[in-house]
Amino acid sequence: MKIIFLGAPGAGKGTQAEIVSEKFDLPAISTGAIIREAIKNGTEMGTKAKEFTSKGALVPDEVVIGIIKERLSESDCANGFILDGFPRTVPQAEALDAMGVVIDKVINIEVPDEKIVTRMSGRRSCPACGATFHTVYKPSATGETCDKCGVELTIRADDKPEVVLSRLEIYHEQTEPLKDYYSKTGKLINVIGQEEVADTTALTLEALK
Ligand code: AMP
Repeated sequence: MKIIFLGAPGAGKGTQAEIVSEKFDLPAISTGAIIREAIKNGTEMGTKAKEFTSKGALVPDEVVIGIIKERLSESDCANGFILDGFPRTVPQAEALDAMGVVIDKVINIEVPDEKIVTRMSGRRSCPACGATFHTVYKPSATGETCDKCGVELTIRADDKPEVVLSRLEIYHEQTEPLKDYYSKTGKLINVIGQEEVADTTALTLEALK
């Protein structure tokens, strides 16, 4: 199965993508995570991308399309995959179509802007392994360190309140039109993001049946 998760930053796409990935044994591919890894490793792509991500702007289409082309050609994607954070613009969706990728379902997680801002202020991530947590919705065992590697959790640079607002604006301008794009193909399913992760998961799994 080939699944896309759509939604505003902080809507819970990544969390649901990870849960569905385990349940269906499909790789969850997050362009954001690939970009953060490249920034951490100081690669040429990472250095270029950082100029955009640090301001909350989108990385240019040709860069992310290149990342996805490479990743989808890997053998673990042969039986399907979950895309978390790609496509984020209409040209990216068109590029996916042009690659001959036939998507089965597009799950759009809807969360109102006011809730997004509160939710994002609680997001924490592990600078070592990239695992994500939330002070309220998904706390780590100690609340301050990563469950997997014990490293102190940090706030992503682009989760700072001033950057969140511009990410939301960009979401409405550039990513939200994808709802229309996929609705026309009959593949879009809207899931209302719930307070509890498990409740959103139940709705997501229902949508994937
Ligand atoms: P995310 O972890 O999905 O919120 O992505 C973090 C940041 O990486 C975004 O704010 C963008 O700067 C960049 N990014 C991730 N995916 C894409 C994409 N498909 N198109 C453009 N930029 C992206």
